[in-house]
Amino acid sequence: MSKDLSIYVHIPFCVRKCNYCDFLSFYAKKDVVETYFAALKKEIMLAAKELNGNSAGKDGQAMSGNPLVKSIFFGGGTPSFVEAEKICDTLKAIKTEFDLDPQCEISIEVNPASAIYDKLVSFKKAGFNRLSIGAQSLDDAELKVLGRAHTGAMFLETFENARKAGFDNINVDVMSALPGQSLESYIRTLEKVLSLKPEHISAYSLILEEGTPFYDMELDLPDEDTDRAMYHETKEILARSGYHRYEISNYALGEQDDPKYECFHNKVYWKRGNYLGLGIGAASMVDNVRWSNVRDIHLYVDAQMSKVDREVLSPEAQMEEFMFLGLRLVEGVSIEEFKRQFGRDIWEIYGEVIDKYAGLGLLEYRRSEAGRESVENTYLRLTDKGLDVSNTVMAEFIL
Ligand code: SF4
Repeated sequence: MSKDLSIYVHIPFCVRKCNYCDFLSFYAKKDVVETYFAALKKEIMLAAKELNGNSAGKDGQAMSGNPLVKSIFFGGGTPSFVEAEKICDTLKAIKTEFDLDPQCEISIEVNPASAIYDKLVSFKKAGFNRLSIGAQSLDDAELKVLGRAHTGAMFLETFENARKAGFDNINVDVMSALPGQSLESYIRTLEKVLSLKPEHISAYSLILEEGTPFYDMELDLPDEDTDRAMYHETKEILARSGYHRYEISNYALGEQDDPKYECFHNKVYWKRGNYLGLGIGAASMVDNVRWSNVRDIHLYVDAQMSKVDREVLSPEAQMEEFMFLGLRLVEGVSIEEFKRQFGRDIWEIYGEVIDKYAGLGLLEYRRSEAGRESVENTYLRLTDKGLDVSNTVMAEFIL
């Protein structure tokens, strides 16, 4: 494999299930949690054995050495639901088994209902340097409908505690288009969050997923115009407040193109870097081979063989992913990188669809440095208008 690797660790436990949640998450008793962490440790060791010493250079030539881990992300579920010691031990095992870049971004998702101060201090001491807090809303009535286990006040306390514990890189998740939510209450949430000056904000709108309680409920959802207004207000308010949008739903403090507070880990997914997923249901992709772990916790704990659905991606599948993941990013996709990875010009494969959407003002070319006009410097990206209808445009990049 090429040199860089990112690691995702799935902690599937939650105090209870939220009404809109279709993540692989559930409540579990202490003994189940114990066995899960033991299995996780085993998986870390097996994965390290498989990937270490097995690296290849950029052109596929053999290279000695281990992959360099550039980011680690503990997500869920709710990693803060379990004892901090278990999380910290797991991170320690990863640090022992893998080579970490000294600048490695190490994130953990926390829930205001369980992220007490002492836990946050332990996370910081263990080496976590980025925190992601699931606020969703600061309106207690909206949180209650969502089935969240926290209140707005609990979120504010968690944020304050996180700063006190020393976290200087914090993401806050907020959601729009919630049942009973007005444009005014959404803006109130956004402004309260902004008054705390987090380094990063993820702003998603609610999607009703099949199989969740919300899917079958009569909900008082905002109409389409309000939904659109929330989307546009997000962009405008965050831009005014010094955040740049670098992905459809993600905003980082600082000027456009300043990557300091952009989430390195998520960018690895969008740029199709190598990532290893640990824990139930976690997906991996290393050198264009993709697999995922079993979703059943008992199978995961009992069986040594946790990998399923191993798939070697065809060149077409790789090109499709390159386009529809890369176009999520505001910087777009590099035309030169496409040629480097696939040995073909982007126009040869996608000329027609590029012309169509460029003609409609939804796609544009962007030079990465002013004044230099060359293919190496050119990116293809969605325009602002294109980002608003991104799903329609991206669907046409399927071969
Ligand atoms: S806290 Fe997150 S992962 Fe857990 S049930 Fe709620 S939405 Fe799902």
